[in-house]
Amino acid sequence: MPRILSTEAVCLRSVPHRETSKLVTFFTRDFGKLVLRAKGARRPKSKFGAALEVATLDRIIFYRRETRTIQTLSDAEILNDFPVLRGDGPRLTAAAVMIEFTDRSFEPEAPNPAVFQLLVGALRTLEAGTGDYAAVAYACMLKVAGRIGYAPQLSHCLSCRRARAATFSPRRGGFLCASCSTQDAAATRVTASSVRRLRRLYLGDFADNLRTPLGAEERALVTQYLQYHLDRFDLKSLRFL
Ligand SMILES: [Zn+2]
Repeated sequence: MPRILSTEAVCLRSVPHRETSKLVTFFTRDFGKLVLRAKGARRPKSKFGAALEVATLDRIIFYRRETRTIQTLSDAEILNDFPVLRGDGPRLTAAAVMIEFTDRSFEPEAPNPAVFQLLVGALRTLEAGTGDYAAVAYACMLKVAGRIGYAPQLSHCLSCRRARAATFSPRRGGFLCASCSTQDAAATRVTASSVRRLRRLYLGDFADNLRTPLGAEERALVTQYLQYHLDRFDLKSLRFL
């Protein structure tokens, strides 16, 4: 017998499956990433309507049978379709980067409610405000990385704990001071303002990040960091950001 389960979910991806179905990948509040088969979703008058559009927040009901690898979506009700975001290229690009990042960072059914909240919080910020949308995407990726075991150390030197940072070491995951910088020849020299901005990126909320532009240097540091630690960080959407 299947179990009938319900949760909130952000749609990450939706691809055609067989003649009339779709395979839909969600990030859910209670079950982490889920890939569900939506029967009849490709029919013109499908009951799912726009609920299976990428970056939509839904309440979903699905059937889970222990014997199956792909579970079945029974119903999806839109809670927020983020209309402003959907109609605006730069916002949509930022959302696409966060969504692709989340999709690639998780295997199915590894629950992480904090990551679900981060994703929804970032989407709501992109929907409601105006500013540096890319900063929200970078903040979201760095925060998600922190929640899956790759928290960067941004408050003091990784080696001697002195406060003044001279370089950023992607490999070691944070700052090194001037005297310890020789420990990693690949570390990148950083300015004091970049150090402050990276701290704000990781620790500040999304609205604060939206208001504070992110420079090219800081973007490059975050990209290097994520590329080093997450082997699947090769995002198609990132070059449009
Ligand atoms: Zn040091």
